[in-house]
Amino acid sequence: RAKTRQRSGHCYFSRNMGVDIRGRVRMMHALRTAFEQRKLTLVYQPQINLSTRKVVGAEALLRWCGDDGQFIRPDVFIPIAENSGLIIELGAWVLRTACEQLVELRARGFVDFMMSVNVSQVQFRHPQFLTMLRLALEQTGAPAEFVELEITESVAMDDPALLITTLDQIKLIGMSIAIDDFGTGFSSLSYLQQLKVDRLKIDRAFVNEITDAKRGSSIAEMIIQLGHNLDLTVIAEGVEDERQADILTRLGCPLAQGYLFARPMAPELLPGWLQQHDRN
Ligand code: C2E
Ligand code: MG
Ligand code: MG
Ligand code: MG
Repeated sequence: RAKTRQRSGHCYFSRNMGVDIRGRVRMMHALRTAFEQRKLTLVYQPQINLSTRKVVGAEALLRWCGDDGQFIRPDVFIPIAENSGLIIELGAWVLRTACEQLVELRARGFVDFMMSVNVSQVQFRHPQFLTMLRLALEQTGAPAEFVELEITESVAMDDPALLITTLDQIKLIGMSIAIDDFGTGFSSLSYLQQLKVDRLKIDRAFVNEITDAKRGSSIAEMIIQLGHNLDLTVIAEGVEDERQADILTRLGCPLAQGYLFARPMAPELLPGWLQQHDRN
């Protein structure tokens, strides 16, 4: 009896854990199939200059449209793509697709427009990462200076040497770099100074907690100050109401992104939205 149990794997895992692993394997297969069947798509969320309210660019965000028509959130499937290695192929597709979109927008006259693309730490560490970046530019004709890569602070943390040399290479290619979810990963500030980073993205959690009463003590305010001191652009994520936009503007935060301005939208809606926004 013990033997059969061992063969079926139940000796190693608790019942729940076994179910969890099977569930994850199923999801991994479903994700790969979805990718092959082109059910993974990109949506784009505009990024705005807080003082002029003009659009400066957009962030590309992955969506998985499930068989039931529901969207599965990237927070759920990115870790699975990372663990299965699919993220390498998927991430290359994301960059190429976002670059194609950038080229199309430029052809329609939106020439002062930065395309931001999220990059996983698994991609970042991959030996072909820089080659993949160059290839995406070559294949699409996208100008490197209008492409920004968003990396999370955790990448920035654990292998400083790799990080510094990779960022140097990215700058040589001509792309910009943003630190995503800034403030959540405890980077050392002296280390940040050595990195060729262009932007800090204030995590939504810190935008959420800003109030006038907290003036002088909020994390968001400290990040904005840090940006000024280190000569980095700061963008606030997850701005949902005018009150937050107003406080951020007064604190000297130059850029913002959030539901107040626009939700992430399908590529076919983006040019129309941009045109409409320009007119206002
Ligand atoms: P992120 O890069 O920090 O993206 C910001 C997230 O906040 C997005 O969630 C966006 O839809 C959401 N958001 C934007 N404005 C607001 C707002 O005003 N209120 C609220 N409540 N939420 C807002 P999303 O699209 O679900 O993406 C979640 C995370 O998944 C992203 O966080 C990013 O880390 C990851 N991700 C998304 N696309 C990709 C991708 O192509 N590659 C990789 N490696 N990761 C991706
Ligand atoms: Mg991001
Ligand atoms: Mg973020
Ligand atoms: Mg995030």
